[in-house]
Amino acid sequence: MVEHLNDSSVKLKRIFIESRLPEELEPLQEMANNLSWSWSQDATELFKQISPEHWEALNYNPIAILDQLGVERAQELLKDKAFMSLMAKAHASFKKYLAEKPAANSPRIAYFSMEFGLHISARLYSGGLGVLAGDFLKEASDENVNMAGVGLLYRYGYFEQSISLYGDQVNNYAPQEYTKMPMHPVRDQNGEWLKITMDLQGRQVFAKVWVLPVGRIPLYLLDTDLNENNWEDRSITHHLYGGDKEHRLKQELLLGIGGIRALEALGFDADIYHCNEGHAAFMTLERIRGLIRHHHLSYHQATEVVRSSSLFTTHTPVPAGHDYFTEDLLRKYMSDYCHQLSLTWPDFMALGRIDANNNDEPFSMSHLAIHLCQEVNGVSELHGLVSQQMFKPMFPGYNQQELHVSFVTNGVHYPTWIANDWHKLFLEFNGEKFVKDQSNLKLWEGIQKIPGKRIMEIRKKLKTRLLHYIKDKLKTELTRRGEKPGSIFEVLNNIPENALVIGFARRFATYKRAHLLFQNLEHLAQMVGDKQRPVMFIFAGKAHPADQPGQKLIKDIVNISKRPEFAGKVIFLEGYNMEMARYLVQGVDIWLNTPTRPLEASGTSGMKAAMNGVMNFSVLDGWWAEGYRADSGWALPLENTYDDPSLQDELDAETLYNTFEEDIIPTYYKTDAEGISEEWVQYIRNIISKVAPLFTMKRMMDDYFARFYNKLAKRGGQLKKDQFKDAKMMADWKKQMQQRWDGIHLVDRDIFDTDNYSLTLGESFNVGVKVYCNGVKPEHLGVEVLFFKRKSETELELRNTYPLELSNGKGDIATFSSEINPQMSGVYEYGFRLYPKHESLPHRQDLGLIKWL
Ligand SMILES: *Cc1c(COP(=O)(O)O)cnc(C)c1O
Repeated sequence: MVEHLNDSSVKLKRIFIESRLPEELEPLQEMANNLSWSWSQDATELFKQISPEHWEALNYNPIAILDQLGVERAQELLKDKAFMSLMAKAHASFKKYLAEKPAANSPRIAYFSMEFGLHISARLYSGGLGVLAGDFLKEASDENVNMAGVGLLYRYGYFEQSISLYGDQVNNYAPQEYTKMPMHPVRDQNGEWLKITMDLQGRQVFAKVWVLPVGRIPLYLLDTDLNENNWEDRSITHHLYGGDKEHRLKQELLLGIGGIRALEALGFDADIYHCNEGHAAFMTLERIRGLIRHHHLSYHQATEVVRSSSLFTTHTPVPAGHDYFTEDLLRKYMSDYCHQLSLTWPDFMALGRIDANNNDEPFSMSHLAIHLCQEVNGVSELHGLVSQQMFKPMFPGYNQQELHVSFVTNGVHYPTWIANDWHKLFLEFNGEKFVKDQSNLKLWEGIQKIPGKRIMEIRKKLKTRLLHYIKDKLKTELTRRGEKPGSIFEVLNNIPENALVIGFARRFATYKRAHLLFQNLEHLAQMVGDKQRPVMFIFAGKAHPADQPGQKLIKDIVNISKRPEFAGKVIFLEGYNMEMARYLVQGVDIWLNTPTRPLEASGTSGMKAAMNGVMNFSVLDGWWAEGYRADSGWALPLENTYDDPSLQDELDAETLYNTFEEDIIPTYYKTDAEGISEEWVQYIRNIISKVAPLFTMKRMMDDYFARFYNKLAKRGGQLKKDQFKDAKMMADWKKQMQQRWDGIHLVDRDIFDTDNYSLTLGESFNVGVKVYCNGVKPEHLGVEVLFFKRKSETELELRNTYPLELSNGKGDIATFSSEINPQMSGVYEYGFRLYPKHESLPHRQDLGLIKWL
């Protein structure tokens, strides 16, 4: 009962009574303060048992559960033998887990991200990017990687979504209670809260540093919501992805510059700096500034050091997903800072531009990251190629295929996303080894032997759990919205028990095409109206508050779901978050994804579904272009047939209905006497054992080490050695090259007359090139012949590259020659290219110098 006190004679004071657990229960407190409980089945079970009826309402938050634990319940728990022994077990493995330290020689990695999706009780994420970063930290913890995360602490997080009676998205921003988050302030030697400062337009802005332990990994979070700051600066860390461009710029300055300062203050001297998406790219500048100040390096020398130890991961081919700032806006905040880098303003602006001389080009955070990080990667094989194309203008003279922009396909953290029942069954049939070596397909072969009955039992259990969850949620949501009791009952009663359940949950951006299924409502009604073979669809997802078309899509789906023919068959759930994602990816039969190719960089929810034996039906885009196998799921065809997107949608929708009606639904319902479809079960065995293991976070972490981290640790370490000797050498060498490059030219060329004669396949021809070196050592020059096939007026496909050998390098004239045997027939175009060459130059396009001869 809430009393409304307006009587001014009532005088109240505020008191905070900290809860205190009996000593024997203190291990609970200890475990609650480290997020590692969230991927331990025992610990999760333990906290749930304390107060099962509040577990969901309190956001599955152990700290909140312990906070409301009364004396009476505590006494009960102490007497509960089963509970106390589970606690002892969970606590022992927690202590053991934390006691292990990373190998002494493993590289230290600082991982910067604007968002981290770890658990719903810490609202520091909006969607896929954050969940990926959160999963990455968890895996780093499990594998004992020497890593620290760096991010911002958002007072209001990202918005929470509810839906109005009319289907409009309502954005709620509830403040987070920091005392109920598993984190604590970082204190300095004097026991004071660690604070860093940053200069914004002449004002000093303070940020407090918190640490949120993710197993063994510290996640450092910056918080400007302090009394020392003025209101505007306090709000820097209020909202994730809220506010205008200027607000975003301030957040990114805080993340990049403040983040590096926090690590310095903490004494975390990393070997590798990983910039997760362009948001954090200012970190490169702050490191350069530090090297100039503390080690008296020049800007160029410092840049060598920073580049050699930095990796940039780009996450989207959608231009709106890359941050751009105008020159005027940037000048407001960075004109002083750029002098501290010993840069002129135009040189500073050039760092964010493709064309240094184009004053109209805004400053791109992705371009900044590419200029100052040695390695760059996309998040799936296809996205790697798309990113090469996207960033090609930054590397004139090179063909897209030659660029060093590479990829690591995303993955998901197995212990976070796997259902408990599956994990137990996998242990039974695979043995234990797969847990530590998840992407080793051999260790998954046992799955093929699981009887269909066991598989379908788990599927059914998880589906039932999902349907209960949905009914509960819908009852609350629809009542709150003010739907009529009659229609609420209609929806709830119409939810079939044994339907084929299809899930679609992700951010509502239009390119993800949630509308595709609704292209032909009559057709859809027919499909879900089949009483013999019931089918239902569940939708969930948020649209960014500024994304009107995305919100319109939600509204359309909500309104469609109210029609009698779709009641209980098409459902939209409000407030998509990681907890709901778990229910969905574990409980549905099919995970549907229909993006416009190639705009889905990777996608990760489908991977979560796959490990839980949920079939994917998706466009061959992102990860599914790699993961799809005909025996493990379904695909919408690869290439676009139409240029007109609405025709393409129409075609894709027809293919979608067709695949459901002709293939998926009949396969699912082709049941034997026991009610099991052996064909369906085989799909499940295949997706679990042949696909899912390749998309685990374990595999992703391995790839990051094999492709980038090891290499960066080595070269980064080398450049720092002996007072930055090699960094200085490289900076000098590059400077010389820049100065002398224009004077280098072709003197003579001696080649077979290809204008007048042709070759026969297998025949070779000789080429010789004489170059004037302008004081550059001939061994620092490379000459090569490139063979292209013409695809169109503007497109050339690189077919082969043949390096020429330096055959005579006396004086200032160098001769390069080779005998070339093309070993391919047909018509080609070829050309000679001269480039700077150095054994410690990781990628030759790093130098932006190239000459076609
Ligand atoms: C996994 C996850 C995502 C990312 O899903 P995509 O398939 O990449 O769109 C987004 N939000 C939540 C809550 C998730 O758990």
